[in-house]
Amino acid sequence: MKTLKIAIQKSGRLNEKSVELLKNCGLNFENYKSSLISPVSNFPLEILFLRDDDIPEYVQDGIADLGIVGENVIQETEVKVNYLQRLGFGKCSLKIAISNNSDITDLQHLNGKSIATTYPAILGKFLKENKIQSEIRNISGSVEIAPGLGLADAICDLVSTGGTLKSNGLKPFADVMSSEAVLIGRNGDEDNILIQELIQRIQSVLRAKE
Ligand code: ATP
Ligand code: ZN
Repeated sequence: MKTLKIAIQKSGRLNEKSVELLKNCGLNFENYKSSLISPVSNFPLEILFLRDDDIPEYVQDGIADLGIVGENVIQETEVKVNYLQRLGFGKCSLKIAISNNSDITDLQHLNGKSIATTYPAILGKFLKENKIQSEIRNISGSVEIAPGLGLADAICDLVSTGGTLKSNGLKPFADVMSSEAVLIGRNGDEDNILIQELIQRIQSVLRAKE
């Protein structure tokens, strides 16, 4: 039977928990940080270590059969993949935040204001649904410093504890989406026996944690 490939984050917030989950499934592999692919010695599976942003497309295009990635990344890239299992880690929320001394008190006050984000697609959809017209400033990182620099009136960014917002003089203002790590697969692959076996192992690891 064809060896499966699962894509996980190479380094970052989801790496450690993704590796731990796969190891807890009884999969034996070397967690070499330097290599892109690690073969599993006791299951027909290879692990691909990638930037999280590339994972949804790799799965959609069939380069990987499965992937572990945050829902926020899937929604932003707007790819078509199957959600196979929520994984219970990497929990965070995408929030609009404003500076502590901002005079914005209502969602409608964002009309005509600028919002800096690395999530322009999700934010654009949220604003449209709420009939708000703001200028979306798409920047590639360090979004939380934008209001202080006068680059934007508000930001839309991932928040878990809120510590980063606080240390930049910002406060959460509106929830855009909540997210956690999920296992994704390709449409039409549902009957693959190896994929079913892996999903079952993952589910029993998650059940044991409850
Ligand atoms: P990469 O180098 O793979 O592109 P990255 O810098 O884009 O990594 P990380 O910061 O490692 O991404 O975050 C990976 C995922 O972890 C996020 O997409 C999100 O789903 C989740 N996450 C959980 N808590 C947070 C948080 N406080 N801030 C950002 N992401 C979080
Ligand atoms: Zn990324």
